[in-house]
Amino acid sequence: MTGTLEVERLLPAPGHLPAARNVRLSFSGGRIAGVGETGRPCRDGRIALPAMVNAHDHGYGVRPPALGGADDALECWIASFSRATIDPRLEAAVAFGRMALAGIGATVHCHNSLVADNLEFEAAGVARAAADVGIRVAFSCPVRDRNPWVYGDQRALLPYLPPADRADMEAAIADGGPALRLVDQVEAVAAAHESELFQVQYGPIGPQWCHDTTLERIAEASAANDRRVHMHLLESRRQRAWLDAAYPQGIVRFLDDIGLLSPRLTLAHGVHLTDAECALLAERGVTVAVNTSSNLRMRSGVAPVARFMQHGLRFGFGLDGCAHDDDQDYFRDLRLAWRLHNGTGLEHALPPGRLFDAACRDGFRCIDGSNDYGRVARGARADLVVLDYAGMRDDYLISDEDELDVILTRGTSRHVRSLLVAGREVVSDGALTGFDLAGAEREFMERARQMAASDAELARHRRRRDAVRAHYAGGAASETASSNTGP
Ligand SMILES: [Zn+2]
Repeated sequence: MTGTLEVERLLPAPGHLPAARNVRLSFSGGRIAGVGETGRPCRDGRIALPAMVNAHDHGYGVRPPALGGADDALECWIASFSRATIDPRLEAAVAFGRMALAGIGATVHCHNSLVADNLEFEAAGVARAAADVGIRVAFSCPVRDRNPWVYGDQRALLPYLPPADRADMEAAIADGGPALRLVDQVEAVAAAHESELFQVQYGPIGPQWCHDTTLERIAEASAANDRRVHMHLLESRRQRAWLDAAYPQGIVRFLDDIGLLSPRLTLAHGVHLTDAECALLAERGVTVAVNTSSNLRMRSGVAPVARFMQHGLRFGFGLDGCAHDDDQDYFRDLRLAWRLHNGTGLEHALPPGRLFDAACRDGFRCIDGSNDYGRVARGARADLVVLDYAGMRDDYLISDEDELDVILTRGTSRHVRSLLVAGREVVSDGALTGFDLAGAEREFMERARQMAASDAELARHRRRRDAVRAHYAGGAASETASSNTGP
């Protein structure tokens, strides 16, 4: 595929090189073939920069609050709602379409279904959705085989449930043992769907949700097949407390002992990582996906980004389906992350160039493990977002402003005019080019409404949520364990 793009301004390496003016880019075979000047003033008021990377997400069609999952402490939030599988292709397309409109050119999709027999069918749907919309997707195949409601013995929840729910819960508590079948089918999913734009990864949901044997099998398979792994780790204080008790040698040490720590691993959240853990993860070449708003909304805290930087631990940024205003606005979330982690000193604690390296280069490591994304230059991937720069600075009375300051202060999804992925224009004039998002949302919501939880089911979810809260309030996974809540 060949093409060209002319823009008034280009940030070829945000925060590292000044903006170029009157730029003409040409593309060939998904790469940038040339970067030159237009030879005449280009007054379209637009600015181009590398497309954003969503390093951790779940591709929700219906967002959690709409299902009864109001913001809450993580474990209570998880227990407060459930989602029906509606149409994997339609749901993923709706989610990817919204991301494209926010300027996201690549996303890690932690798939939510845990039905072993359905994974290949669902992966096919998600792969079709990715192709329909046109963004890059790293599909993380989920594995969860223990501790669905609370960490440790599930029966600990029973005393907090009313008798009728207790019987149901008791019947549902069944440890099927390690779900190795879910691990073993990942290669088949990859063989069927993997491409330049669709990567397949192992997706153990988290160490508290997976048997040790499962994690060991994944570590082996990742090494044998050179395939990435994407896993939640140390998101909440209660996870920290439970994992500390369950793994006396330290959970990160355990993961290292089984061979899971490698440059192929992404860890989502990492809010409660200690200094020593950050140092070890950095040494092993692991990348962390920071989910700023999700961490705030689920009362998980603020990821220790200063600590990550101090130890040279790579990190990208994800939305986790829980952006600050529940709207998947990547630029607004990036602004929030920057402000939270930029310190109180006279100099930037998180310089804009470093922020964009995280958003682009290190975020992209979570997609395919490469280390060269985030520059607009000959030979680089032709993945660009084009913003309405004039619209962001229309009241400026100066003309020597720093373009990145303007984007970081004011940029939002509504300024996204165009998105190119592998040279293909996925968004043009603020609308998707190959996909009817409004129509898909209508169709999807119609089906979702038909499958919505009944009032009785909702009430049962709420009772389950309250039981989880009472369980932890009762001292389980002690809240007094060491925790980190500041940057
Ligand atoms: Zn997540």
